[in-house]
Parts: sequence; structure tokens; C-alpha cells
Amino acid sequence: MPGKAKLANKLREKCGVVGISLSDRDAARPLYYSLYALQHRGQESAGIVTHDGFQQHEHVEMGLVGDAFDEDDIAQLPGPQGIGHVRYPTAGGVNECCAQPFSVSFQSGSLGLAHNGNLVNADEVRTQLEAQGHAFTSNGDTEVIAHDLARNLLDDGLVSAVRETVERIHGSYSLTITYGGKVLGLRDPQGNRPLVLGEIDDGYILASESSAIDTLGGERIRDVEPGELVILEPDGEGYESYHVADAPQTAHCFFEHVYFARPDSVLDDRLVYEVRRELGRQLWEESGIETDVVMPVPDSGRAFATGYAEAAGEDGAKTEFAEGLMKNRYVGRTFIMPTQGEREQAVRLKLNPIKSTIDGKTVTLIDDSIVRGTTSTQLIELLYEAGAEEVHVRIGSPPIIAPCYMGIDMKTREELIAADQSIADIRDEIGADSLQYISIDAITEALGRSETDLCLGCVTGEYPYDIEGEERDRDISRPDLDVPEGAAD
Ligand code: AMP
Repeated sequence: MPGKAKLANKLREKCGVVGISLSDRDAARPLYYSLYALQHRGQESAGIVTHDGFQQHEHVEMGLVGDAFDEDDIAQLPGPQGIGHVRYPTAGGVNECCAQPFSVSFQSGSLGLAHNGNLVNADEVRTQLEAQGHAFTSNGDTEVIAHDLARNLLDDGLVSAVRETVERIHGSYSLTITYGGKVLGLRDPQGNRPLVLGEIDDGYILASESSAIDTLGGERIRDVEPGELVILEPDGEGYESYHVADAPQTAHCFFEHVYFARPDSVLDDRLVYEVRRELGRQLWEESGIETDVVMPVPDSGRAFATGYAEAAGEDGAKTEFAEGLMKNRYVGRTFIMPTQGEREQAVRLKLNPIKSTIDGKTVTLIDDSIVRGTTSTQLIELLYEAGAEEVHVRIGSPPIIAPCYMGIDMKTREELIAADQSIADIRDEIGADSLQYISIDAITEALGRSETDLCLGCVTGEYPYDIEGEERDRDISRPDLDVPEGAAD
């Protein structure tokens, strides 16, 4: 049985997916544009698989979307149906084996599969499939889903095959799949990761976020429901919907709304920007402090700070909203820096103070989250160097006390500054004059959902899936796969 450390060190997928079916033009270019719109969800690799009615074509490469494809690559991806994927970097390395979409050829045809999320029983399913003769080329969970589905497709029709796979896999997944000229979208029964359905000029689209649909000038139709399979017709004329699994509760990831998704996306019927603004307002209600200026950590803190400043103004506080930190847009997310030293340097590379808005002022600094504490520590130091008299920190999520196993890179407990420290200790460690986080109640209020319909694992330590090595899972058990003792270790 894998222990905590083993699970935490595994690859975790943090990605963006898209699937498109058009009536009479190639899907590769709109897929490419959609991947651009989803680039924030993954910068390690990008890939597209298309189907021309006879066979699949694929191009998958490491790097950003703009680097992974040139005109020739797009031209060599014929076919009006296809899927795409961007993959989030794992700490300290590149993993060519795990770039997606993942393709597999078998007796009944070819499958292309793009996955956002993380299976927690992939080892068990893999062990069973290996015993049945399946050979795996990666240690990723996406290949496990692809093989399981391929095996089921040998005996069953499409919908039954998907249903059987859903019964066997446990964890979070939003998938786009191509099979035999059809494009499928599948969201796990608890709807942990987002997936939306939209209509474009001459067809339909499935994507992790609605901003991809907007980019193509399309209309968002709705979220794909938890446990729903959507099949886009090969002629781009419509779609079919099947409910393939039930769960007693949903487990939507609150962190998508707080940090991960684009503010202009609508997820689970809520515009992310408005959720963040509302959380900013709540932050003022719960722990507002009147300072000369309130400034966001760009870009992730901006919507929170706007709501906070607005609510402060309404209460008659003389706190002025100010942009006090300039962001260098050409530096990637700091999490890909392998060492702590490099991460600290990266914060300074990424953000530089605008002295006139800080010098001689009391400052409230607003960010979406504190993970290791590197960003806040560095920024508070920068603000003092720029002449700040006081620095108060307000955070748009509750303290992150536990790892994420469901697809967001949250590291191990040892690295999380809030895992075993009080807020007062964290305040002292980051060097702030005061520090407050938002409450879990404010999150449930802003999202209009109860705690039990959200995944709050990283802020409560209580997970909506059966995670080995974690004691406070909800009362949900993984499928019983009859794996031989010790085989999945
Ligand atoms: P840290 O410096 O480790 O405390 O990280 C906090 C900063 O990283 C905040 O500014 C967040 O906006 C950002 N952040 C939060 N979660 C993640 C994540 N999973 N991946 C990358 N960046 C993140």
C-alpha cells in the first residue's frame, strides 16, 4: 500500500483539455487557438490529436503552445474532429513520457485521450490490466484510462464501455477523447475538475474553461454535469448526452475559482472574476484593516483586491486601491523553479515595486493564497525596501494545510507553511504586521454550495475521494478491483 510520501511524490496531472467537432473544416487550428486560451493550465507540453474519418494524426511536444506547433505541424493534422491538451509542469523536471493527448491503437481502432485530474487508484487498475497482457509505456494515469477503455471497447458499444471504465476508476478526471471520428467529453461523477460545452459557428466544443469557447467566438452552452458523457456528432451537427454515473455529492475544486482558472471563465455557472471579487468583499467584512493603500499581488490577487477596496470604500474607509507591484509578463509561474533559492530569485524577477505608491504608506497586500510562503516573504521584504511603513496581508483562500491529490500542485505537508503553524507564527515567518485568511464559510457562500459539495481537501485535510495514507477521507470507497495482495505497491 503506498504511504503518504509515495503518493505525494507521484506525478500529478494539472492540465487543460479541449475537444472539437466541426462540419467541414479541419479542427487543428481552432484546437490550437483553444490551447492558447488554456495555456495558464499547463506550460510543460502541448498536443493535438485529430481524426480524419479514417485515421488519427497527432502532434505532441514539450513547451508552450506557441513553441510546440508551427504552420507545418498544424497542416499535418487533417480532420474535422480532434482533441488537445496542455500539461502543467511537475516540480523540477520535464516528462516527455507524460505529454498528452495519449494515443493508443488496438483491434477496434484508435483512441486519443486528454486528461485533467488525477486517478487515485491508477496503480490498481494498471496492475489488473498488466495481468491481462496490457503493456504500459508511461507511469501516468491517463494511459491507464486509455487501456481500460480500449479493452472495454473490444466487447461493448461506446457508452457501455465508458460506463464500465467509470465504474473501475476512482479519482478526478475531466477527459476529452477521440474515437472513430467522434469526440467525447467525460467528467468524473463528483465533477472535481471543470469541463464546459459550447457551440461554435460550424460545430461544438468541449473545454476545461469557457474562455477557450470565447476565443473561438462561440457560445458557452453549459457545464458538463458530474458523471456525464457528452458525445459530439462527427458532422459537427449536434451532441448526445448520457448520464453514466452517480455520486451522492459533488466535489467541485474550490481552488479552481480561487487561483487556477482564468477570471474570465464561467465555471460551474459562476464567473470566476465575480467569485474572486465577492471573496475580496468578504475578506474586508471579515478582517478589513484601514491602510493608506490596498494593492494586489498581480495577477492572481487583483480581483480580490478590487472587491476588498470597493467594500472598504462603501464602509467609509480611506483605503485607496493602488497597483504597487509591476509584473514582468515574460517570467513563468514560480513553481517550476526547482530550488528554494531559485524560487526566491524568481519572485524578484517577476515582481518589482512601484515606489511612489508605497513609500511612506501603510499597505494592505492581497493575494489569492499562500502555499510555501516564498512569495509573501519576498514581497513583504520588497515593500519595506520600497519604503512601506506597515504591511498587512490578506489572503483570498483559507490556510492551505494539506496536499492536493486531485490535480493541483500543492506539494507535501512539509513544504506547506500552514500545515503545522498558527496564523500568528506564519505572520511572523513572512514578516507581516498582520495576516488574515478568508474563512471556509465565505468560500461556500461565494460559490453557492455547501462544504460537502466542494473539494476543500487542501484547506481541511478531508478529502472527497478514498486516498491511501490520508485518514480523513469522506465516507467514499474506491472500486473493489480484486488486485492481488501487494501487486499495486
Ligand atoms: P508560495 O510562494 O509558495 O506561497 O505560493 C503562493 C503564490 O503562488 C501565490 O501568489 C499564488 O497565486 C501562487 N500559487 C498558488 N497555488 C499555486 C499552484 N498550485 N501552482 C502555481 N502557483 C500557485
